Amino acid sequence: MKDYSESDKKIILKDYRGLLRASKKFRTTPEDTAYIRKAFNYAAEAHMTMRRKSGEPYITHPIAVARICTEEIGLGATSIACALLHDTVEDTDVTLEDIELIFGRREKRIIDGLTKISGAFDLSTSDQAENFRKMILTLPDDVRVIFIKLADRLHNMRTLGSMRPDKQRKIASETLFLYAPLAHRLGLNAVKTELEDLSLKYTEPEAYNEIAIKLRKSQEIRARFISQFISPLKKELDKTGLKYSIKGRPKSIYSIYNKIKKKKVTFEEIYDLFAVRIILDSKQENEKTDAWRVYSVVTDFYRPNPDRLRDWITNPRSNGYESLHTTVMSPTGKWVEIQIRSERMDEIAEKGMAAHWKYKDSKKKIESKFDNWINKIRDLVENKETDTFDFIDDFKLNLYAEEMYIFTPKGELRTLPKNATALDFAFDIHGDIGKKCIGAKVNHKLVPLNHILSSGDQVEIITSNKQKPKEAWLDFVVTSKARSNVKQSLKEEVKQVAEQGKESLKRKLKSLKVDYNDKNISELLKLYDFKNPLDLNFQIANGKIDLSKIKSIVVKGGILKYEKESVLTSLFRRKQKEAKKLDQGEIISSFGGKSSEAIILGDDSLKQVDYKIAKCCSPIPGDNVFGFLTINEGIKIHRTNCPNAVQLMSHYAYRVLKAKWKSQTLKEFSVGVEFTGIDGMGILNSLTNLVTGSLNINIKSLNIGSEAGFFNGNLNALVHDTKHLDDLMKEMKKIEGIKTVERVY
Ligand code: MN
Repeated sequence: MKDYSESDKKIILKDYRGLLRASKKFRTTPEDTAYIRKAFNYAAEAHMTMRRKSGEPYITHPIAVARICTEEIGLGATSIACALLHDTVEDTDVTLEDIELIFGRREKRIIDGLTKISGAFDLSTSDQAENFRKMILTLPDDVRVIFIKLADRLHNMRTLGSMRPDKQRKIASETLFLYAPLAHRLGLNAVKTELEDLSLKYTEPEAYNEIAIKLRKSQEIRARFISQFISPLKKELDKTGLKYSIKGRPKSIYSIYNKIKKKKVTFEEIYDLFAVRIILDSKQENEKTDAWRVYSVVTDFYRPNPDRLRDWITNPRSNGYESLHTTVMSPTGKWVEIQIRSERMDEIAEKGMAAHWKYKDSKKKIESKFDNWINKIRDLVENKETDTFDFIDDFKLNLYAEEMYIFTPKGELRTLPKNATALDFAFDIHGDIGKKCIGAKVNHKLVPLNHILSSGDQVEIITSNKQKPKEAWLDFVVTSKARSNVKQSLKEEVKQVAEQGKESLKRKLKSLKVDYNDKNISELLKLYDFKNPLDLNFQIANGKIDLSKIKSIVVKGGILKYEKESVLTSLFRRKQKEAKKLDQGEIISSFGGKSSEAIILGDDSLKQVDYKIAKCCSPIPGDNVFGFLTINEGIKIHRTNCPNAVQLMSHYAYRVLKAKWKSQTLKEFSVGVEFTGIDGMGILNSLTNLVTGSLNINIKSLNIGSEAGFFNGNLNALVHDTKHLDDLMKEMKKIEGIKTVERVY
């Protein structure tokens, strides 16, 4: 610390003391404290000359990450030390050997894991996705790597304000796509919620602010409602002698946003903006009985919805979550969700796995659940046939799936995601049983392979040696284990067919006196636009390839050369190179590359790159947009809040181009508007009058369907920009009978 300036020292020591305070209960011996101090001093010296984007000394970041690890995830001394050291090997000249020498093998292993994850950034490939796969690969070694990585990401998200806006969006998308689901799966509810809310703040700032403001404004009304709701409960609960506390917790901004988007309701129409949580101070052996006593008191006062009872105390979720949930009707006619749990369960729900380790009794149970999950993930990762994107999709499926419980004929309980079919169950038992499955008996009744199971079903699988996996199976299996097994089997079949194609190709080349070698094959791949020989050979075998074309690219002496490279391919290649060269900052993003100019849209006077408007979100002038370099169709323009944007940005960051609209444009753009309402006479008339009359807008199409007094319609019109569109929507809302008006993606 001696070389830092006085003012820096002040800031750093203040942060460090905060860390010591937060980690008090994990520092049980003087050795623990000395060990953390050693890591702190070492990291502080290594990062001496570095500063964060915000201007603070760099070491404040590792200190903050260490504090999150201990305070918010409940990790101990080793994790604190490793969090302090987490950026040393990557960003300074400290080596892994140094870490081993000074701290030990365990620390070396963890830092190695952390460095691999970020050091492996290669933007020219599937970047984040591949990284993520690498991160998962470290899971079985030491879970602490993932925890520290999540803490690192959380701190970066909290301090994202000092980054460039394009980087903010990229990082936020990535967080939403990968890190938040991972935190969820590890049971880190508080971390997950904060990551989601922060991501929304940067990807959809307007929506985020609107909800945040409305939540703040309605706080008082909510508090009054909750206190009225719980006061009769309190009286009765006090009589039972149970020790408890009651909280009314608002839902997260992100979950409210999702509800508004999915259910197409307004903020005001969302009934369950909060949940009432009753937390019991019970001995562990009485937890379950006490929780049900509380349930009994609650439902004596308020009528429960029988479909919304969830007993995760008897059957905890696989991320360790335990709680008893019910939804009851309040006197004002609103549904209110009630969560009943013990203090132990509450801590586990918020902090996750790490909190489990403190509670000896449940440790075994939880560990075996966690091991189970890790084993499933390991199956996936080690299946080399799965390509990275399939892997990510399957993995995410695994992360978000709701669970149900299925029994084997012998009464063994197995957990499957919601909507799993009989075939999924067969694969869950064993890969070979799945591959040979021809049907099943569910509760003793014969059902087909695609039969969707319900929680509590008892299932017996019927197999046949003649059966083999079919492409159509992929339409209905939902578990990643079943999917990857089926895909792998199908791929093997493709390989066999491709072998025949390869033979035809060899014969053709021989007749042209061209050698069959890697160089020539790669020219052929360019000619026919295939990524790998397997696909090419497969299509040759299927007779889909015109082999006579090869003749045109023969250049003397048995050599092939495919010359033509379009402007776009060369642009594509340049972007790829550019992305590779980008320096590896703390978090890397290549949104549009470093030096690239924005594409100017809607301007025909300048000779600009050709672009097309993406159909998925139909951007118009005024929308925030970006360009995306497609392989076959040139540049496509998307809105930054396009439903596909998160995926495009996190998967193919290096193909994203900056774009903006020219301020004035005379062009017209097609846009869709969806509206609903209560059937009234003459809606069609007033609509067409409005649009073609006073607003002077060209209609491309207008459809209205009505059913039982309600109608919904679709209007496709040509507008100049977002202002033009806003005017249209505002006027439409004024028409009597029309209830909602919304832009279509
Ligand atoms: Mn970091």
